[in-house]
Amino acid sequence: MYLKNLTVLGFKSFADKTSLNFQPGMTAIVGPNGCGKSNVSDAIRWVLGEQSAKALRGGEMADVIFNGTDSRKALGMAEVSLTLGEVDADHLRSAGVPVEFNEVTVTRRVFRDGGSEYFINKVGCRLRDIQQLFAGTGVGKTSYSVMAQGNITQILSSKPDDRRLVFEEAAGITRFKQQKKEALRKLEHTDQNLLRVEDTIKEVKRQIGSLQRQAGKARRYQALATELQLLDTQLARHQFDLLQEEIEVRETELARTKLDFEVGQETVLRLDDEVLQLRQQLSELDHTISGQQQVGLELKAEVDRHENKIEFNQQRLQELQDQNARALHDITQSREHTAAGNDNSDQRGATTACTCACSCARSRASRRSSSSATARSMPKISPRPCRSRSSRPRS
Ligand code: ATP
Ligand code: MG
Repeated sequence: MYLKNLTVLGFKSFADKTSLNFQPGMTAIVGPNGCGKSNVSDAIRWVLGEQSAKALRGGEMADVIFNGTDSRKALGMAEVSLTLGEVDADHLRSAGVPVEFNEVTVTRRVFRDGGSEYFINKVGCRLRDIQQLFAGTGVGKTSYSVMAQGNITQILSSKPDDRRLVFEEAAGITRFKQQKKEALRKLEHTDQNLLRVEDTIKEVKRQIGSLQRQAGKARRYQALATELQLLDTQLARHQFDLLQEEIEVRETELARTKLDFEVGQETVLRLDDEVLQLRQQLSELDHTISGQQQVGLELKAEVDRHENKIEFNQQRLQELQDQNARALHDITQSREHTAAGNDNSDQRGATTACTCACSCARSRASRRSSSSATARSMPKISPRPCRSRSSRPRS
C-alpha cells in the first residue's frame, strides 16, 4: 500500500483544485515559509479522520476552509481526496470494505455550517469506517506515518505509555486493540441490556398474573360477545319476520284503503255532480219562489183591491138597501094614499109625493099595485137609483 495521490480543493491555502501525484520513492516538498507545505500534511491528517481542530492548527473545523484573500472570495466547502494504491484485498475485506480494485480513494468534505461527509471510493460512509480501514496500517490519526513539525521531539520526550502507542501501531496490534475495545464496549452494552431484560422479565412475571386474569376476562368476554352476537342475530331475524308480516298486513290495508279511496273519490265526484244539480234546482226554485212571491204580491194587491171593492160594494149595498127601504116605505105610503083617495087625487098625490122619484119607480109602483104579492117578493137589490140621488163611490 502506498500513497498515490492527494487532491485538495478549498482546503486552507489551496483555493483551486490541486492534485499531487506521489511517485514511488521519496517525495519532498520544498518551499519558502508560509507557502503551504504543512497544509499538505494537514490535509492528509484531516482526510484520515482527524477530529481535533487544534491538531490542524485551527480554532474550529470550519477554519480549514479557504478563507479568501484580498483578491479572492472565500469558499463554502473544503474537500480532500487521498488515493492509496496496491491495497491488500484481505485487509479491505477484514475492514468491511469489499472492493474489486486494489486502489482506494478516501474523501472528506466539510461545509461552513459544520456538516461533514465521508466517502470511500465515492460511496458515502461513516468516519468510523475510515478509521477501521486504516487501523493497524500505520496510517491513521494516532499513527506514526504523519509526523508534524516538533512531533518527533514530542514522542521522544513523552511518557512510556504514549511511546507504547507508537510501537503498538508499528507492530499492527492497534487494530486488534481497537477491536477488543469495541468488543468490550459491546459486552458492557450487552450486560446492561441483560440487566434491563432481567428487570423486564421480573416486571413481566409480576404482570403475568394480572394478564392471566385479564386473559380469562377477555376469553369470557369473547364467549359472551359471540353469544350476544348470536342472540342479536336471532332477535334481528325475529324482528325481521315480525316486520315482514306487518309489512304484508300494511300492504293489504294500503290496497284496501286505496280501493276505498278510489270509491270515495267516485262518490265525491258523484255527490259533487248531485250538489251541482241540486244547486241548479235550488237556483231554479229560488227563481220560481221569487216569481211566485211576485205573483203573491200581485195577488195580494188584487185581493186588497177586491176587498176594497167588496167593502165598497157592501157600503153601496147598504146604501141601496137603505134606498130600497125608503122606496118601499114610499111605496107603502103611496099605497096607503091610493087606498085612501081616488084615482085622480091618487094621480095628483103621486105626482106631488115624489118629485124626485124616478119614472121607473112610479112605473114599478104601478106595476106592483097590480099585484101586491109580486111587490112583496121583489128582490132586495133595488134597481139602479136615479143619478141625481145616487152618491159617488168613495174610491
Ligand atoms: P513554514 O515553512 O513556516 O512551516 P509552511 O510552508 O509550512 O511554512 P503553512 O503553515 O503550511 O506554511 O501555511 C501557512 C499559510 O497558509 C499561511 O500563509 C496562511 O495564510 C495560509 N492559510 C492557513 N489557513 C488558511 C485558510 N483557512 N485560508 C487561507 N489561507 C490559509
Ligand atoms: Mg510548516
